[in-house]
Amino acid sequence: MPDTIVEPEGRIPVAARADLVVVGGGPAGISAAVAAARNGLSVILLERYAYLGGLASGGMVLVLDDMSNGDEISVRGLCGEMIDRMERIGLCVAPPEADRRSDPAMWRKWSRWGVFDFHSHIKPQPICYAAAFDPDGYKRVANDLVREAGVNLRLHSWFSRAIVEDGRLTGVICDSKEGRQAIMGAAVVDATGDLDVAASAGAPFIQGAFIVTTVFRLGGVDTAAAERFEYEEPEAFAALDREAKRIMGGSWDKWWLKTPLAGVVWCNCPHMAGFDGLKVDDLTRADFQGRDRIAALVAYAREKMPGFENAFIVDVAPQVGVRQSRLLDGVHVVSKEDVTQRRHFADSVARGRDYYTPYRSLLPRDVSQLLVAGRHYSATSAAQRISREIPPCMAMGEAAGVAAALALQAGVTVDRVDVARLQATLRAQGADPGDRPAANAQVAEAAE
Ligand SMILES: Cc1cc2nc3c(=O)[nH]c(=O)nc-3n(C[C@H](O)[C@H](O)[C@H](O)COP(=O)(O)OP(=O)(O)OC[C@H]3O[C@@H](n4cnc5c(N)ncnc54)[C@H](O)[C@@H]3O)c2cc1C
Repeated sequence: MPDTIVEPEGRIPVAARADLVVVGGGPAGISAAVAAARNGLSVILLERYAYLGGLASGGMVLVLDDMSNGDEISVRGLCGEMIDRMERIGLCVAPPEADRRSDPAMWRKWSRWGVFDFHSHIKPQPICYAAAFDPDGYKRVANDLVREAGVNLRLHSWFSRAIVEDGRLTGVICDSKEGRQAIMGAAVVDATGDLDVAASAGAPFIQGAFIVTTVFRLGGVDTAAAERFEYEEPEAFAALDREAKRIMGGSWDKWWLKTPLAGVVWCNCPHMAGFDGLKVDDLTRADFQGRDRIAALVAYAREKMPGFENAFIVDVAPQVGVRQSRLLDGVHVVSKEDVTQRRHFADSVARGRDYYTPYRSLLPRDVSQLLVAGRHYSATSAAQRISREIPPCMAMGEAAGVAAALALQAGVTVDRVDVARLQATLRAQGADPGDRPAANAQVAEAAE
């Protein structure tokens, strides 16, 4: 049997054209598409699954965090709009300003919402601005945002190959029930999270890796009883909780967190190592291993843990949660020190908790008319692990969308955008591009 087969050459119909093609309808892609459309571009948004939201909905990652350094809210813009809209339909919960501090009462009130500052060494860790939300709420609001902005959304469309002519990206090929289709654009944003487009176009990248998780939700949980036990019998609680984590094989400190739905908690676990988020075999095995571990944990919790006696599995996230795979090796590669030392860049266009994202880290080398936004942006593996949360990914997407609009309207390539104008436009539209460094920021070397 041969190891390869030859695909017959064929003509692929052009199914749609727009100024901008955004590939991937997760947090970064939604933001890029909406920002570009609001700034005057015709936009096509391609998504492989049947819904928008990426890991925030299909991965059931249900806390928007890494958006406040305690003193200020550092990610605003479309992320803030998403939170406001989800709050208005009762599907998002965030601590009010008066509660955002470090004391035992606030810890007890808020820590099971996952809204604490996980970087802090103070005990109890400060409650900070972060938002617990519902996955269907994120999908609904995302639908509203793209519909209102006039984005041409094409779900059920798997990106399969970049179309590159003389080093310039001119469109993409998708697979769908309709067969192969070409989607053409004057510029493209890769928001696939796994760098599918940039890698296919020939942009340099590194292969990153991190733990993966099959997130799930439990219903029928008496959260008040569970918290009473945690605070009133801390030693007994610690022993049971330790055993729960051993059974599931790894988790962050608080493995269950409240959601806007009464009695429903989400479980950001188990932690599973050694899986490649790009490999079919690995993703298949991860799904099986995740479900086995979840079943074992739930049986234990129902039998032993106060508050969980009547717990049942509401759902297991349809997508295995892949935190890191390919990372762009772009014009600037963000280092761990850039993040931890709060290094400020003159071309900062997005912020996370207290760090800055330079425009150059959204730009690939060697491929023209491509922007990269989201968890696969140009960073080292260690830097990405601490700068990949949903809000900074949304901020990167928003910056990429506005940048594409400014470039196409000025008749320049996306790497030639007037960054000062990009920053001013983002700020005027309610985002915080990080053009005004906080007092504790380090200024990057002039050579940068
Ligand atoms: C288990 C887990 C827990 C996490 N916990 C938190 C947390 O508590 N708080 C927080 O803020 N962040 C958390 N994160 C990080 C955060 O969820 C991600 O980094 C963030 O969602 C990245 O957004 P993105 O838009 O870059 O990518 P993604 O959310 O991965 O979205 C990518 C989108 O592109 C689509 N796509 C991919 N490939 C193709 C293709 N070939 N064709 C078409 N479409 C494609 C996908 O379907 C998806 O919709 C967690 C992540 C994981 C995995």
